[in-house]
Amino acid sequence: MTTLPIRVFGDPVLSTPTRPVDDIDGRVANLVERMFETMRAAPGVGLAANQVGISRRLFVYDPGDRPTVVINPTIVATDGMWEYEEGCLSVPGYSWSILRPNEVHLRGYDLEGNEIEIEVDEFEGRILQHEMDHLDGILLVERLDDRQRREAKRMLRQGAVQLDRDPDGLGQLLDG
Ligand code: ZN
Repeated sequence: MTTLPIRVFGDPVLSTPTRPVDDIDGRVANLVERMFETMRAAPGVGLAANQVGISRRLFVYDPGDRPTVVINPTIVATDGMWEYEEGCLSVPGYSWSILRPNEVHLRGYDLEGNEIEIEVDEFEGRILQHEMDHLDGILLVERLDDRQRREAKRMLRQGAVQLDRDPDGLGQLLDG
């Protein structure tokens, strides 16, 4: 098992809304395995498919003791507000205090195609919302207020990571 390269700020795949997974088959299972490996190696607590260049609607996460994959997720309901310091594997080296709903109720599918429901709050709820944003093509900098966002984007452009835009064929995992 090998890890996948994680796409970083400025890569268009991160700002493009992902498409639903049509068939939950062996290719998806293989992708999910590699995403877990990549997330653990980073290390991180969540990883969306488009962060490894696959523009499909699925993410993996692990709040500490429970590695979970969610396919074709939708947020059913949210409640309350909670401010928490958030970082992102695609924006390495930065973190910001971000206000989001505290409780989240999410519905999606597991690798067997069974519908799953997740109702969580605080840290785990934050991970889910962060990953949902990725699937909609939204990076955490978009959740900052106007002034913070301008500052963050200037900072990120100055420290611009050299991007490798060569197609690596990973998109073929699901599109081929
Ligand atoms: Zn992220």
